[in-house]
Amino acid sequence: MTGDSPYLFYQSRNPRPYLDRGEGIYLYDESGKRYIDGSSGAMVSNIGHSNPRVLAKMKAQMDKATFGYRLHFRTHPSEDLAAKTVSMCPQGLDRVFFVSGGSEAVESAVKLARQYAVATGQGTRYRVISRFPSYHGCTFGALDLTGYEPLRAPFAPMMEGMPKITAPTTYLDRDTLTEEERGFRYAELLREQIEEAGPETVLAFLMEPVGGASTGALVAPDSYYQRTREICEEYGVLLIYDEVMTGAGRTGKFLAAEHWGITPDIVALSKGFGAGYAPLGAIVASSRIVEPVLDAGGFQHGFTYAGNPLACSAGLAVLEELEEQNLIENAARMGDVLKARLEGLMSRYQFIGDVRGKGLLLAFELVADRSTMEPLPRELNAYTRLVEIAYEQGLIIYSRRTRGGYEGDHFLICPPLIVTKAQIEEIMNLLEASLSRFADEIAN
Ligand code: PLP
Repeated sequence: MTGDSPYLFYQSRNPRPYLDRGEGIYLYDESGKRYIDGSSGAMVSNIGHSNPRVLAKMKAQMDKATFGYRLHFRTHPSEDLAAKTVSMCPQGLDRVFFVSGGSEAVESAVKLARQYAVATGQGTRYRVISRFPSYHGCTFGALDLTGYEPLRAPFAPMMEGMPKITAPTTYLDRDTLTEEERGFRYAELLREQIEEAGPETVLAFLMEPVGGASTGALVAPDSYYQRTREICEEYGVLLIYDEVMTGAGRTGKFLAAEHWGITPDIVALSKGFGAGYAPLGAIVASSRIVEPVLDAGGFQHGFTYAGNPLACSAGLAVLEELEEQNLIENAARMGDVLKARLEGLMSRYQFIGDVRGKGLLLAFELVADRSTMEPLPRELNAYTRLVEIAYEQGLIIYSRRTRGGYEGDHFLICPPLIVTKAQIEEIMNLLEASLSRFADEIAN
């Protein structure tokens, strides 16, 4: 264990076994115990672990050059990855800028938006409206845009003037509206916020198309996506989709935005984009945004490691794997299978209040009472306890307790996109065994 390791923080508080190796959807610790990576780490390892074709392509690049500073050399991996990314995105997203992670991608998206505004004579626009709850990263700027108070509180006061609107938590609503009407109602919160802040000050609206860790795979009504896009256009506000978790095929399309036919102005990618083979992220934007910035002297932004040939060779190999092995289609198909299996658990376990998500970004939420969605008592610590039980059984899942206006324990079940039907059965067997042990524990 790592109790006295100088590698501090998470490790020392929550000692875990040493990781030995990975293979497909499985991870092994040094004692030889096998785990199913039922959350792809933190929704990262989309193509599974130790994919030999990806490793071979990275090795070939390593043998040539691992780093060449982007101001000194062009590289084929970075240009090829940019071209491949654009080819997989909806039309209109045709420019790519590389970074090394999700928070960097979100910050870069906001900075590109801001430079675009300045370059096009809209310098009064600086506010980014985001949502509550949400998660956009842990650097200072990205954290300020995050709607999750426990993470923000230790650093308050943060930046000024970045308003948040409520994300559509429609599964909690007990009104008589239709789903479509609810979607419109939540979207109108954006209009109200723009009006309140002063339209001339609003730069962008930032949202996760399907919530990640913050909300547990929350999907909004279809009408929400269309209406928020329309409102952004009406007010000249840029629409930024944070697809750090949803992108690269996780929801059954390359971008989740495609489910609703939305083309955001800027998209942030990471996690599954490098799929755990290299720290990698990107923003993808339309030329309409990028050209004025280039004309004004170029994007005043960039990280040292951004676009390095090794990370880009990994990213390129990952995207090739997604395409060649039809993994995005598999995510859609297996997502339906897994979701139906999770829904099936609701008849046996009354404390499962909701099952939700898209593709292989799926979650269930535990509650005390399904009819009112009253959460389980906080003292039960369900979100950590069930994860521990599952971990002992050899199943890794990811959980959070949403905090704020509503508190609920949700669990993300997001295996790599290579998962098979037989492996879904393995996951479900372990999950059921874990749930039934948890049910016994809380009954006593
Ligand atoms: N945005 C979303 C939607 C995320 O889920 C995350 C990470 O969980 C981030 C941004 C931040 O990414 P990173 O941890 O790579 O900085």
